[in-house]
Amino acid sequence: MAETMRAAVFRGKEDIHIEEVAKPECGPTDAIVRVTTTTICGTDSHIWREEYPVSNGRIVGHEPVGVIDQVGEAVRGYEVGDRVVVGAITPCGACYFCQHGDFSQCAGYDDEWGLIGGWRLGNSADGVQADYFRVPYAQANLAKIPDGLSDEEVMFVTDIASTGISAAETANVRIGDSVVVYAQGPIGLSATAGARLMGASLVIGVDSNPVRLEMAKRMGADVVIDYTQEDPVAKVKELTDGRGADVAIEALGIQETFENCLKSVRPAGVVSSLGVYGDKVTVPLEGFVYGIGDIDIRSTLCPGGKERMRALMSMVQAGRLDLGQLVTHRFDLDDIEEAYPLFSNQEDGVLKVAITTD
Ligand SMILES: [Zn+2]
Ligand SMILES: [Zn+2]
Repeated sequence: MAETMRAAVFRGKEDIHIEEVAKPECGPTDAIVRVTTTTICGTDSHIWREEYPVSNGRIVGHEPVGVIDQVGEAVRGYEVGDRVVVGAITPCGACYFCQHGDFSQCAGYDDEWGLIGGWRLGNSADGVQADYFRVPYAQANLAKIPDGLSDEEVMFVTDIASTGISAAETANVRIGDSVVVYAQGPIGLSATAGARLMGASLVIGVDSNPVRLEMAKRMGADVVIDYTQEDPVAKVKELTDGRGADVAIEALGIQETFENCLKSVRPAGVVSSLGVYGDKVTVPLEGFVYGIGDIDIRSTLCPGGKERMRALMSMVQAGRLDLGQLVTHRFDLDDIEEAYPLFSNQEDGVLKVAITTD
């Protein structure tokens, strides 16, 4: 009898539930990790709603903290029992894209070429909302957790912190810059923290949810704007001597926030886009200054790999990044079916959920 385990499996629209499935097998370049804590991402909600396609039967989830259970024979420097995180994006380190430094778009060397190739877990391969998962390209992706850090303190480096902070990095935020972040969900809150870490002197967070606006201040926003109470573009202009912000970060993925970013940046400013867009995105003529405003539009997908994870965990360890405070709700893996609607519909003031296996 093959060993089995619990796993959250996608079966159709608003149907992700726990099934008993085969425990994954460990290939030579893989590792098997026993999950201790994981979470649900906005992208999982898109899958749950059938807005982002994964195959029927796919184990979902891509934000794991756990303990090494098996190490492939080609993998060096790790032992069974090591506590690790694995990023949502698992680059191989050896393909065309990785060798160009475009790790998130990794095409791998032993799996199929796909769109956003670097995102395997819970997408093109089985994910981590389970008792165990297989780590592809383990040598490049197992990041040991520094002593003294809890699962909840490090969990969000796997995706939302890496993604959010990357928006500020991609925009090359400079010391003394002004940065506005549209939407203060988990990714936007991380972008707010990233703008502060990169040296911005004015960080502005925009949302309408009071819980999120309050958390924005704790994550590094100097000013918060409730867009239902005042015009965010006008307010950003007012706060920046009429110029507009040096950088505007889009952290939602809809036309309105993208457009507000274009309207909020100064001439020759940078729009840094993180959102996963579900519909057509158009560039308005005026916001883009008829194509001659030197507006720079960039986009970023979550950087992964063990070195990225190490760097972010070192920020947590140094006390510069407090991610654990984003956990508002806790569930056992057995109850993940309840966690999906709560998180996806933003019920009960939820920011992030922690899902544990014990
Ligand atoms: Zn995610
Ligand atoms: Zn690669």
